[in-house]
Amino acid sequence: MIPLAVPNLAGREGEYLQECATSGFVSTIGPFVGRFEEMVAKAAGAQSAVATSAGTTGLHVALIATGVRRDDLVILPSLTFIASANAIAHCAAEPWLMDVECASWTLDPALLATQLEEHTERRGSGLIHKPSGRRVAAVLPVFTLGMPADMDGIVAIARQYGLPVVVDGAAALGATYRGRQVGMLGADLTMFSFNGNKTVTAGGGGAVVGNDRALCQLVSHLTTTARVGPDYEHDRVGYNYRMTNVQAAVGCAQMENLHPFLARKREIRRRYDEAFAGISGVSLFPSVDWAESACWFSGFVLDEGNPVALRLALRDAGLDVRPFWKPMHLQVPYRDAPRCELPFSESIWQKIITLPCSTSISDEEIDCVIAAVKTALSAR
Ligand SMILES: *Cc1c(COP(=O)(O)O)cnc(C)c1O
Repeated sequence: MIPLAVPNLAGREGEYLQECATSGFVSTIGPFVGRFEEMVAKAAGAQSAVATSAGTTGLHVALIATGVRRDDLVILPSLTFIASANAIAHCAAEPWLMDVECASWTLDPALLATQLEEHTERRGSGLIHKPSGRRVAAVLPVFTLGMPADMDGIVAIARQYGLPVVVDGAAALGATYRGRQVGMLGADLTMFSFNGNKTVTAGGGGAVVGNDRALCQLVSHLTTTARVGPDYEHDRVGYNYRMTNVQAAVGCAQMENLHPFLARKREIRRRYDEAFAGISGVSLFPSVDWAESACWFSGFVLDEGNPVALRLALRDAGLDVRPFWKPMHLQVPYRDAPRCELPFSESIWQKIITLPCSTSISDEEIDCVIAAVKTALSAR
């Protein structure tokens, strides 16, 4: 079986893990954590980074730090991984689900503007969602597959309504938007994930980056039980969300290979796009002229044909192919969340087919995937 996306541990992971064992620094204190934060901040073009136990926990504290509270609404595209919605729910808030634009599969700024215009009003307590009477607390764009959302539009609208912007950039480290790195697009905070299936992994882990030192300090404070000083003194309800030195050791070794890994991911995308362009009833993963995606996953969209049958045929041919995210409005915990009409999310999600795209995949394996897909497509 050619796997979908497995970690590539060809660097100094073993050496750095040995250093953790030899030095005794296996927990949240240790040199790799700070080093990892510096590497992530630099790669994102941001002033500071805070390493967290997971992307989800990073997003949770980022939302708290930007002021999301119980019963608030946070604007979220429905087409995302459930972790983005869960981070909102962990604040005892709820997502307000919106559609993505078809060109990029990311939050549609024009829709965001009309929804805010039509369904909110300013009251003493802030921006209120008129149908539910609840406060709208933040906008949470998701950089789908490592593709930046149209941030100039989104940030301008959010500012107009006084809303903070927290980005789920889980798989977008290394992407660019209008030539700028993902940590300098005007968001208050941006999260990256270092889960095992991401381009760069720490085994598990996350990071939150930003350009407001006080805000990043607050995120860091929240991840370390809101402790003040060494004497079991805590000034608010905090969390045990700090990344460990062992995770960061793997993360540092991986970050040393960020650029070759990104180059390989983009090459895989290019190979698949080239092979499947022009096949009738098939379209390609999004590409836009205003951003360069980090190309976390690659594959194609099956516009005509039965995607379930096609996936089964490809699995029989030895390829680990998968469907993609089921939108949030179709998930049990979020089916009653406020939402607008979601025609694009609804029509696209079942047609998406992700193909093997590990950075360690060989050229021969890519050829093999392409041949198997072409055979399966011609048998539709
Ligand atoms: C991977 C991913 C996450 C979750 O990150 P974890 O590190 O697994 O908690 C969140 N959002 C998106 C869009 C992801 O792709």
